[in-house]
Amino acid sequence: MRLGQFSTTDAEQPWCGAKTPAGDVVDLPRAGEAAGVTLPRRTGDLLGDWEWRRKVDLAVEYAEETGTGVYDAADVEQLAPVRNPRKVVCVGLNYRDHAEEGDNPIPDEPVLFSKFPTAVNGPGGTVSWDPDLTEKVDYEAELVAVIGREAREVDPDEALDHVAGFTVGNDVSARDLQHGDGQWVRGKSLDTFAPVGPDLVTTDEVADPHDLDIWAEVNGERLQESSTENLIFGVDELVSFCSRAFTLQPGDLLFTGTPPGVGVYREPPVLLEEGDTVTVGVEGVGELTNTCEYR
Ligand code: ZN
Repeated sequence: MRLGQFSTTDAEQPWCGAKTPAGDVVDLPRAGEAAGVTLPRRTGDLLGDWEWRRKVDLAVEYAEETGTGVYDAADVEQLAPVRNPRKVVCVGLNYRDHAEEGDNPIPDEPVLFSKFPTAVNGPGGTVSWDPDLTEKVDYEAELVAVIGREAREVDPDEALDHVAGFTVGNDVSARDLQHGDGQWVRGKSLDTFAPVGPDLVTTDEVADPHDLDIWAEVNGERLQESSTENLIFGVDELVSFCSRAFTLQPGDLLFTGTPPGVGVYREPPVLLEEGDTVTVGVEGVGELTNTCEYR
């Protein structure tokens, strides 16, 4: 199943939707209400309901039979699949080929950092920054796990039960701030610097999250190309490792790291500029495109 957040001109607030095989989008709160089940407007709230899958199936079935809450995809705006996560957790240096590119040793344990939830941006959204604040903006294609069930001190072999699905993320980074500040808060958390989407693809539709092609293109030129088989720490290990330190909650986003080819390590470096278009993709999960603009 493909879930997301959508807005329409007739709705005051965005709503959580599911895509049908035919390519339509079902307004889940509206179709659910008509079908007799209550479904929240926010994806994170939906995933926190232990019966969400059954209720969503009911709502979608009802919508397909009656047309209630069904929209043509062309008539809705798709937003980030989770617009208000409570946490955005990220992992540094998690691809073997990326560690080798920077002559870094393979780490023994995941190196975690975070992006503020206010950085979240959606598919088609503008990544914007003040050129007086940063002059070295870079892209990072990443597979993003979306937490479903709350995870606290879970073992790796049960960790994937706590993942609702996957989406694509671009861990946009201001390298001058990241490397100049002594730590990464500003460099990773500028507003709009965490595009995710388009869809949250549920785990049952992703056969093996550790065997997916992953890529990034800037203005159509492919600059990152690898596979999630090169992940040093898999999604199960990352969720378990995080959950031993802090509680992962429904809707939390876990960026799993980026493969080689980021702009700052290229010769010559490739730094993003106003007007650039960045597309990051993960096989079977989707492609996420954003444009760049100075503020
Ligand atoms: Zn990253």
